[in-house]
Amino acid sequence: MIWDDALIAKYDLSGPRYTSYPTAPQFDVNIDKVALITNMMAPSRAPLSLYFHIPFCANLCYYCACNKIVTKQYDKGSDYVELLGEEMRLRSLMLDNRREVTQLHFGGGTPTFLNTQHFRILFAHLHDNFNLQQDGRQDFSIEIDPREIDEDKLAELVSLGINRISLGVQDFDPKVQQSIHRVQSYDLVKALVNNARELGIQSINFDLIYGLPFQSVSGFKKTLDDVIRLSPDRISLFNYAHLPNRFRSQKRLPEEHLPPAKEKLAILKMSINYLLDSGYEYIGMDHFAKPQDALTKARDAGLLHRNFQGYTTHSGTDLLAFGVSGISNINGVYMQNLLELNAYKESIENGQLAIAKGYISNNDDRIRHDVIMTLLSQFQLSFDFIEKKHKIKFVEYFSDELARLEPILADNMVQYFSSQGRNGIRVTERGRLLIRCVCMVFDKHLNSAIQYSKVI
Ligand code: SF4
Repeated sequence: MIWDDALIAKYDLSGPRYTSYPTAPQFDVNIDKVALITNMMAPSRAPLSLYFHIPFCANLCYYCACNKIVTKQYDKGSDYVELLGEEMRLRSLMLDNRREVTQLHFGGGTPTFLNTQHFRILFAHLHDNFNLQQDGRQDFSIEIDPREIDEDKLAELVSLGINRISLGVQDFDPKVQQSIHRVQSYDLVKALVNNARELGIQSINFDLIYGLPFQSVSGFKKTLDDVIRLSPDRISLFNYAHLPNRFRSQKRLPEEHLPPAKEKLAILKMSINYLLDSGYEYIGMDHFAKPQDALTKARDAGLLHRNFQGYTTHSGTDLLAFGVSGISNINGVYMQNLLELNAYKESIENGQLAIAKGYISNNDDRIRHDVIMTLLSQFQLSFDFIEKKHKIKFVEYFSDELARLEPILADNMVQYFSSQGRNGIRVTERGRLLIRCVCMVFDKHLNSAIQYSKVI
């Protein structure tokens, strides 16, 4: 990857993160629910990927942009787990639930808000309703708040089948931690990492955020020193987007201490160089991984894919999401659950799916989905692949887009390639950081009224 200051300044744009295409703002609250469910029930033999949204958090992080409920009433977990069990039962009746569940992910909120008993009950519901893969190849992961877990809970999660964890680390500097209202010491994280390794967890991810109050190049470098000492298998380095009018808790951040845009860019540049020099490989967007990690191997083999959780080694799965705000995706048919807990509870208790909105992809969406997701995960696109899969002539179908790609080609962010009779485009090392700008050329739903995040 090549860092080019002039190019980054020129492409100072905002755009979607493309965890799906079309992206969530296209989902329609007035969708015909019968048509949506009928489409979701179309026969499929794809393996299943399950996502559970646990919305509760015991403490509020001021930078948060997630759908969460801040409460210290831990018993709320009991009721919620039963609702998830009922939702699983409803959903499992709508499809062939003998298909293997190869991927499972708990996100939030704070999934570890739930106690060990809650997790036992949740997994009992899972086994009652689905066929969980148990041959060691499964990818069962959970997001962990280091303040909300102990050795017993982690051991229980491992015994239930969890083999990957993702820790919300953000920054180790106590001053930064106090300003974002998330204080967790290096020693706490270190003990958790050691414990996870002793228990045989296969992959540990750290989430880091740059752009928070009091961060600087020298300060964040110290955090990276600590991170490298703990040697996580994967690192996600997210750009903090300050949108206090959209996310009220962000108003509590000391705005005057947010690093200016120039310092943020300098932190990102230093971090990328530091991680690459430390032996990590750039996977794509905000993600880095060790050379021996499954993500890196999948990238090298051209088998990397993208979904709502970021990059994944699992392709062609039908994604079922449970809990408030969860987004399901069955072959381009998207369904998002209600965001508000009481409304979700009422629907599920009445034996109905808690549908907030949805989207049924048309043929054009499916073609563009494959173009954008292939570019994002492989940094190149074979026209033949799209032509064979979708029975189109690429240069004719995308003649307008290829014309709009010309300035990007002129800036040497993308090049045409032709090898062994296959034609296509390849994202250059100069273009990798700006991959979202390349994808945006092929996005038919881009809407200037939507407040997207900065591409860098
Ligand atoms: S950042 Fe995570 S842990 Fe913090 S309030 Fe938001 S959802 Fe909860």
